[in-house]
Amino acid sequence: MIKEFSSSSGDIVIKIDYEKCTGAAKCVEVCPVDIFELQEGKAVANHVDDCIECCACVESCPNNAIEHSSC
Ligand code: SF4
Ligand code: SF4
Repeated sequence: MIKEFSSSSGDIVIKIDYEKCTGAAKCVEVCPVDIFELQEGKAVANHVDDCIECCACVESCPNNAIEHSSC
């Protein structure tokens, strides 16, 4: 299952593939504005409006589970 998280304007979309996400939490560690948290062992993206489009999350994920509209 792929879950989508969007900014309120819809400009930024983060997709997380839960078939691939293993709860490694690298995204949680690297995001400079703390967008990610783990819920029941899977990453979720909160307050996407704060995203600075740095792409660190995409680059950090060991399983390529994160797709970002700006990266
Ligand atoms: S780094 Fe990738 S595998 Fe780890 S929690 Fe984040 S999305 Fe899931
Ligand atoms: S692109 Fe950067 S700021 Fe946006 S969610 Fe990923 S790590 Fe966080």
